[in-house]
Amino acid sequence: MKLFLEVVPVEEAVAAVRRIAPPVVEETVPLEEAYGRVLARDISAGEDIPGFTRSVKDGYAVVAADTTGAGEAMPAMLENTGRVAMGAAEARAIAPGQCCYVPTGGVIPPGADAIVMVEYTEAVGDEVLVHRPVAPGENLIARGEDFAAGAVVLEAGRRCSPRDLGVLAALGVAEVPVAARPRVGIISTGNELVPVAATPGPAQVRDANTSLASGFVIERGGEPVRYGIVRDERAALEEALAAAAAECDAVLLSGGSSKDERDMCAAVIADAGEVLIHGVAIAPGKPTIVGRVGPAPVIGLPGHPASTCVVLIVVAGPLLAAMTGERRAVRTATARLTQNVPSERGRDDYVRVALDGEGGAAPLFGKSGLLNTLVASSGVVRVPASREGLETGEEVEVLLW
Ligand code: AMP
Ligand code: MG
Repeated sequence: MKLFLEVVPVEEAVAAVRRIAPPVVEETVPLEEAYGRVLARDISAGEDIPGFTRSVKDGYAVVAADTTGAGEAMPAMLENTGRVAMGAAEARAIAPGQCCYVPTGGVIPPGADAIVMVEYTEAVGDEVLVHRPVAPGENLIARGEDFAAGAVVLEAGRRCSPRDLGVLAALGVAEVPVAARPRVGIISTGNELVPVAATPGPAQVRDANTSLASGFVIERGGEPVRYGIVRDERAALEEALAAAAAECDAVLLSGGSSKDERDMCAAVIADAGEVLIHGVAIAPGKPTIVGRVGPAPVIGLPGHPASTCVVLIVVAGPLLAAMTGERRAVRTATARLTQNVPSERGRDDYVRVALDGEGGAAPLFGKSGLLNTLVASSGVVRVPASREGLETGEEVEVLLW
């Protein structure tokens, strides 16, 4: 098979990875392990939350109408019938003219329809003087007001945040249906690469992409499986790719993705399976490969870490989203460019920018081989293929890292 670097639009690469993504596998995990996992099903309230009408303030449960016109000079005088204990279900009913002390979170006694904050009352013997009027419903949460029984509370495809865990707990969801974490094999290729702990010799660099891609896979709900550094040798590459494709649900292969004769990733993927795309109209990141070995999608990432980063977000992100069912809420910020951003028509440019905290986005025109822009940037601005560039002062949407 002869491989040309035929460049396709970004949308086509995204459509391809979605098409070849293995289906979501559902599993159940205990709530304690659900943080960061993607919900595989809608979660509904099994019953009304809260299950009883309760007070949100320390105060007296009253019949609101009894307090009409109450003021400092003319307090309403109500008979004190006692107090509701926290967690006690049986609250004695009150009648007009009566009141009963209820702590925050306590059950509202039948007959009462509001709480007067204790600050606006004065207990005098068996009576309570109320210095302010309350409206019906004031200072209480009605049964089912938070979530009504049967209502969908959290939708499938949502990644569980700490807040979601609290809500799941309140709903009584002890076992959470989530997408299984896809196992993603990560291979770094390059004769110049040395492990992180090594001191690079002349012309050597430490392998940054294994760590970068691993972190990305974890962030997007997958489980990275590291195959380490593989030399640019056909047999070694074939062996690593075969192992990763057999043991994992998808493979990320970094480096050697261009069409230089030493870049053999595309040929190795083609021999073991098929290459669907070689070359995407994106900068940085043009030498990107989308292929498949058996059922496992394989993405060939360009070696420059900053290019890798863009391709991870733009191409590998949608793959992982398809494999986990995540409906990702992309975090963006609106800002104004502090400098012109030149760009070529016909490709999507992703320019790293630093937000200055005052509404400005400063483009960082680092070469894609430089790591410092990854440290300094807040995210990227996309210059669409249809534009020749963006201008100073133009309002842009920053895709935050
Ligand atoms: P390649 O895509 O293999 O042509 O590599 C392009 C550039 O990225 C070269 O300067 C490589 O040394 C560098 N590079 C490739 N892989 C890695 C990696 N895993 N970590 C850091 N730099 C890399
Ligand atoms: Mg290389």
